[in-house]
Amino acid sequence: PVEKKERRALLWDILKKLAVFAKPYRLLIIATLILTVLGSFTAQVNAFVLRYAVDTLTEIATLAEPWQAGLRMLGIISVVLLTKEILSIFISFGQRFYGEKIRINLSRDLSQKIIERILTYRMSFYTSSENDSGKLQTRIDYGVSSLTSLVQNFFIDMLPLFASAIVSLIIMFSTNFWIGLVGLIIIPIYFFISQKQAQRLQGFRRQMRGYREAKSGLVISLINSISVVKSFVRESIEAEKHLTIQKDMTDNQLRIRSIGFIYDAIKTFIEQIGVVVIILLTSYFVLKGEMTIGMILFHVMLFQNVAAPIRQLHRIYDQINNALTYAEGFFDILEDEGQVENVTGRSSKDLKGHIELKNVDFTYPNGTQALKDVSFTIKPNRITALVGLSGAGKSTIISLLVKFYEPDSGTICLDGHNLADCDTHELRQNIGLVLQSNHIFSGTISENIRYGDMNATDEDIIIAAKKASIHEQIINLAAGYESTAKSLSGGQQQRIALARMFLKDPPIVFLDEPTASLDAIASQQVKKSLDLIKKDRTVIMVSHNIAQIIDADDLVVIEDGRVVETGTHEALYEKHGKYFEIFSAMSDSLNLDKISQTLKG
Ligand code: ADP
Repeated sequence: PVEKKERRALLWDILKKLAVFAKPYRLLIIATLILTVLGSFTAQVNAFVLRYAVDTLTEIATLAEPWQAGLRMLGIISVVLLTKEILSIFISFGQRFYGEKIRINLSRDLSQKIIERILTYRMSFYTSSENDSGKLQTRIDYGVSSLTSLVQNFFIDMLPLFASAIVSLIIMFSTNFWIGLVGLIIIPIYFFISQKQAQRLQGFRRQMRGYREAKSGLVISLINSISVVKSFVRESIEAEKHLTIQKDMTDNQLRIRSIGFIYDAIKTFIEQIGVVVIILLTSYFVLKGEMTIGMILFHVMLFQNVAAPIRQLHRIYDQINNALTYAEGFFDILEDEGQVENVTGRSSKDLKGHIELKNVDFTYPNGTQALKDVSFTIKPNRITALVGLSGAGKSTIISLLVKFYEPDSGTICLDGHNLADCDTHELRQNIGLVLQSNHIFSGTISENIRYGDMNATDEDIIIAAKKASIHEQIINLAAGYESTAKSLSGGQQQRIALARMFLKDPPIVFLDEPTASLDAIASQQVKKSLDLIKKDRTVIMVSHNIAQIIDADDLVVIEDGRVVETGTHEALYEKHGKYFEIFSAMSDSLNLDKISQTLKG
């Protein structure tokens, strides 16, 4: 019972949250409800017509000349039924259309709201394992669809049926108390059965969802690993895996169907008992002379109007269970106040790039301490290289400098102001970030470059592409700047990303291994544009490329989250410390002796 109470509170909570989204559609909802009430009255017309027909027929059958009266009756019935049908067409169309409109709009609003919301969230929201892209997508999709189908089921499918059930019940009570009572009694019985049905199905439904997810995951992982599958000739094993899931799924499906059939049969049986009781009861009143024969059919039809919606009740239980399972996760994402990035702060325009880290400690949300007591200074308009083995914490420093994360303790100052107090969006407008593999969006080349400055003209884009030395290659493509960017090679994509950076033209640039994913030729091509980017800017660079490191004005050597040395290349080389060690290892790996021999020869 405690759990039941909790679930009820949870459902109430979900409905309240949903109501906020439904608010803009108040008028639509009211219109739908009015139509629903109208519809519930027209739904009773058949019962009245049938009663009239039977009663009139019994009367005129005893007449000597029944045909004339019969024709009159037929005329009345035709007119009434036709009018009712025409009315119902409009009412039911309007009711469904508005219901659907509410559902579609609500679904759009929910999906839009969550996207807008998560865009304001911190970096840690996206990198946490709980929100692996696939998982986040599933949580959002299932949340939206469970909420909208709850609305759809309620407004479009169930509400009209329930409204007509209530009207039927009222009519039954008003004609005879006992008849009304029979109609009323079936409701708790059906409620009980539907609840049992929903409970029995719940476990199977959940399993079914698991199978579906596993199945869709299977195809995705198959696509991702197809070259391994084929090269190891494991096709039959993969097919076997699929077969196992299929078998479980079909078993489960049959179980679900059979449970549905059994409960349907029970409900039909009970409904039939109700019909028999209604017939017996009405016959009794007819024999007593208190009712006409037409009342028998009248009551049976009204009774069926009451029973029909409640037969479907288990669907509402299903939908509620679904919503309880998924809507909570959805609203959890939507209402995660703690994740909202604090972006307002002191204006930080016209930055120079004097950066100072003082005793900075940083731990990732998963508990990895990546930086320990880091202090160093970066002078403006110079190139500073962060040097260290992989995993030392170089990229982490860059993440802190663009405020993707905040330090646990210590301060980072930019041009003398604490970074924590700066307006984050303005700060990022002033910083260009070039990563190992820059993200190229699906879309054309010009769209991808324009991302650097949404107001750029086509000329600006061409100038930027020229600076990134990619213009010549672009105009040689069949569709030129309108070609899809994704089909370019890695080196070309990297230069598109650099063109984007030239367009943005920030005073501060962070380069995080910009050539690491490129081959030697592509690196060489990118290097020219990198050199151009470095001019007259404050540059912080992470690189394992020996030539780029030597080019830097200052070096900061990092080992295991700590700064171990700072200084120029010459000074640090002389020192024979950590930098000397790393530098020697890098130059050894180049096999310089052999190279110089080859070049000489
Ligand atoms: P580098 O750039 O010097 O190769 P990183 O700054 O990427 O090193 O990583 C420093 C440490 O932080 C490593 O131990 C790494 O495993 C850890 N780390 C990096 N990114 C994350 C993350 N998103 N979540 C948790 N730990 C991370």
